Amino acid sequence: MLDRAFLETLRAIVGDDGMITATPALQTYACDGLTGRRVSPAAVVLPLTTAEVAEIVRACAEAQVPFVARGAGTGLSGGALPVADGVVIGLSRMRAILDIDLDNHQVTVQPGVTNLEVSKAVRPLGYFYAPDPSSQQVCTIGGNVAENSGGAHCLKYGFTTHHVLGATFVTADGRIARLGGAVRDAAGYDLLGMVIGSEGTLGIVTEVVLRIVRVPESTETVLAAFATMGDAGEAVSRIIAAGITPAAIEMMDRLAIQACEEIVHAGYPDCGAALIVELDGPAVESAAFLRDVLDICAASGATETRVAASEAERALIWKARKAAFASMGRISPNYYVQDGVIPRTRLRDVLEQIGALSATYGLRVANVFHAGDGNLHPLVLYDNSEPGAGERALQLAGLILDACITAGGSITGEHGVGSDKACYMPKMFSPGSISVMGRVRDAFDARDLCNPGKALPTPRLCGEVPGMYRPHAIEMSGLAERL
Ligand SMILES: Cc1cc2nc3c(=O)[nH]c(=O)nc-3n(C[C@H](O)[C@H](O)[C@H](O)COP(=O)(O)OP(=O)(O)OC[C@H]3O[C@@H](n4cnc5c(N)ncnc54)[C@H](O)[C@@H]3O)c2cc1C
Repeated sequence: MLDRAFLETLRAIVGDDGMITATPALQTYACDGLTGRRVSPAAVVLPLTTAEVAEIVRACAEAQVPFVARGAGTGLSGGALPVADGVVIGLSRMRAILDIDLDNHQVTVQPGVTNLEVSKAVRPLGYFYAPDPSSQQVCTIGGNVAENSGGAHCLKYGFTTHHVLGATFVTADGRIARLGGAVRDAAGYDLLGMVIGSEGTLGIVTEVVLRIVRVPESTETVLAAFATMGDAGEAVSRIIAAGITPAAIEMMDRLAIQACEEIVHAGYPDCGAALIVELDGPAVESAAFLRDVLDICAASGATETRVAASEAERALIWKARKAAFASMGRISPNYYVQDGVIPRTRLRDVLEQIGALSATYGLRVANVFHAGDGNLHPLVLYDNSEPGAGERALQLAGLILDACITAGGSITGEHGVGSDKACYMPKMFSPGSISVMGRVRDAFDARDLCNPGKALPTPRLCGEVPGMYRPHAIEMSGLAERL
């Protein structure tokens, strides 16, 4: 229970319409896209300005109340999971596009602006915002920055971190700092780079300066069907080895295709694996690469290739791909989205291991992923009404991560560590590395109030194993004072 006087302080900052304390309404904020973990917060506040965010954070710091930033709540690693007796700071009402500066290829936005809104605002001017998570219609720029989100087109264009030039940042004790800026290679430590991908654990981003890029002269989209995932993987390797960098290479297996077809009816072929290969750039270059890609697909055993003949056809191909997670609801009562990375060259091998695990556990696994980046998204399907099925699904998903680590990859490609994977961190990082990360975190948030229990393994979450992060282990370095 939060102190009444504290709640009144928050209400005075955001007003009645920016404050939620009624139990049913708080339930809406109890989880993010990882719906299996739920904690109802004591209060939700919905600020409108940077100054309000700073005042809220200062009030929390003074009262020693933990707080969690939240964008649209589409995160899949439990990053926005509230703390009981804590406050959720919802940024969804801060959704203004503040400035479009075409001369400098920049757009400044509040954190609650959705990813797609940025591209929609600048597309008529011939530009777009490149990172495109499949959740882009609803996820926010603040959430994208916190997760360093990726998307289908990050193969060529890079992740969120490559498109953020500056940010206004509220420190964990409520000061307002400006990070980054117009000069691309500023002196000093890269604090902006540190904040991007820090999963809301270092402070709250309240304005973001984004880099936008020119809409390419031409775009070619190929849908290629293969009998097996191995053949499709072979095509991916050959395309990259040929020196072609497509804007995107996405892969879906038979189960994923069937689920998507049930809701989107995009006309994907009935096949063991489908690749979407998108090429963009000058028209002459795209046309030449298109010929190469079609030849490579044929040589790799493609049973069918189709080139989108119109913008509408291209949009339909992508609509099916971007609906992949949601469409699992059509073929399974429950599903868990895994997110791991492997070197591209290990695709065939790791996909075979996932197939074997699926057979051993008696649970179906659909695969849909950013093949060009080696970023896998196995979707483990289960029925929660079956005793033990949920636990089996989590075990299976965990073994997939082990396979990714063994193959030289990572426990997350783009969905973050959050509360879901904190205990996997010691499998990937040495105690020394986790200790350095912990010291960075302590430097920003010595009181461990800013999204505690996320991203780093603590004894409370994971038990006493080597490499645990102990909040408050070092004295506050004074970094927040000086920012
Ligand atoms: C169907 C579906 C498809 C998806 N596809 C992709 C994909 O292709 N690529 C990808 O990368 N992700 C994908 N995701 C995951 C998710 O959409 C992204 O992680 C997204 O960036 C989260 O944004 P959000 O606004 O929903 O953030 P939330 O879920 O609200 O929060 C995510 C994290 O960011 C922190 N945070 C939020 N706002 C701020 C802020 N202003 N300042 C500091 N911290 C903040 C939170 O504390 C939390 O830790 C997908 C999710 C779904 C449900």
